[in-house]
Amino acid sequence: MPLVQSLYRRLPAVHRLLESPELAEAVTRWGRDTVTGACRSAIDGLRHDVDQGAVPADELDAACRRLPERVLGLLEEQGRDAYPKVVNATGVLIHTNLGRSPLPIGVPASLGGYLALEYDLEAGRRGQRLAPLRHRIARVCGAEDAVMVNNNAAALVLALAAHTRGREVIVSRSQLIEIGGSFRLPDVMEASGCRLKEVGCTNRTHLEDYERAIGPETAAILMAHQSNFRIVGFTTAPAVGDVADLAHRHRLPLLVDQGSGALHDLRRWGLAEETTVAALLAAGADIVCFSGDKLLGGPQAGILVGATDWIEPLRRHPLYRALRPDKTALVLMDRVLAAHQHGRLEAIPLYALLGTTEEELARRARRLQRRLKDRGVPCRTRPTRAALGGGTTPAETLPSRALVLGGGQRLADRLRAAAPPVVARIEDDEVVLDLRSVLPEEDSDLLEAVVTAYRVPEKGSQDGGR
Ligand SMILES: *Cc1c(COP(=O)(O)O)cnc(C)c1O
Repeated sequence: MPLVQSLYRRLPAVHRLLESPELAEAVTRWGRDTVTGACRSAIDGLRHDVDQGAVPADELDAACRRLPERVLGLLEEQGRDAYPKVVNATGVLIHTNLGRSPLPIGVPASLGGYLALEYDLEAGRRGQRLAPLRHRIARVCGAEDAVMVNNNAAALVLALAAHTRGREVIVSRSQLIEIGGSFRLPDVMEASGCRLKEVGCTNRTHLEDYERAIGPETAAILMAHQSNFRIVGFTTAPAVGDVADLAHRHRLPLLVDQGSGALHDLRRWGLAEETTVAALLAAGADIVCFSGDKLLGGPQAGILVGATDWIEPLRRHPLYRALRPDKTALVLMDRVLAAHQHGRLEAIPLYALLGTTEEELARRARRLQRRLKDRGVPCRTRPTRAALGGGTTPAETLPSRALVLGGGQRLADRLRAAAPPVVARIEDDEVVLDLRSVLPEEDSDLLEAVVTAYRVPEKGSQDGGR
């Protein structure tokens, strides 16, 4: 150890490193405390390398000279957002890779400080985390009671574990879905401790198929929304109301994995009808579950609604503690549900995007095109079709307008490197910036990103250094 001790003595003191001329600008930009912390980490890092024998004695001085560089690297890394904001110009509104439905811009600022999370302000004592939100969820969905968990997969696991563990659950073969990101209904069922009993065929399932499958081991019937695919042609599926009646005649619950969380008639936005959560409950479904970040337009969550008799056991189940939502999700969900409840849908970004008229999109497209032309970037505008996405309505598209630029994959790559990054679509080797998924307040970010990406000189070009 004496050798290592003597090496340690050659490491600079924190205040010495802080005074390096290379770090002067960083101190102005990040503040003295932040840079001091980074200096300490950089020296600790080097000490660790010496310890591990990664830096031999004859290389130590060179390594010490490179310390300011190491500090700048650390500061850069600390300052980078793990989840940077992006402009979604793909035209897919509920984009799973980009966080599904967009949350209102600026919302996290209101999450600072303490919250009455599990505190009953009226009584002045400990309260229940879900109590303030539960009635609002129920009211918005037309249900008696509600539970919220981390996502819809968790919602399904909780419902199955609480009501069907060790017994059989009947599912139509046309509804054994796989959703991207490893959600497979048969696997979720197995993990929840129930046995899958498949009925019917891929294209046709009749009410009698369900009826014949019911036996002493049956715990429930489960219907799942065919979120991300369609079976067309020679098909049959019984109505939810008929399956509910059948289940109830046998004293069984009907669980419905509705998936998207449709609360309103989507025909209002020119989309095909999708059965709403309230309609499923009215048809007799006992528990309906869905995601919070699809058509609800809220944070990631899984919501279960139904009669208290079926919902209360979920809140009491030991798994609920493991699956319960975080406070930030509860706060955001509350705001989003309030907007649904009071019909202020334009306050929910997803509905603001859905509600934008074609004329408005065309006007914004022309304006952006003009401003780009003024700055030397040629582009066209053209009518296009956007998608709802998020495994909601796979065949559905919405009329939209796009800016179209040449430059193909190379320009798209540079747009992703802009600040904030812009994610675009590529069609026929052209970059398509679909305005249906761009919030109007992001237009100027989009403009700057395109101008910057367009002007970056090609690698290896002669005028690169001019
Ligand atoms: C989206 C979806 C899921 C998965 O929901 P997560 O919130 O991603 O866990 C499950 N079932 C259906 C029918 C869906 O549409």
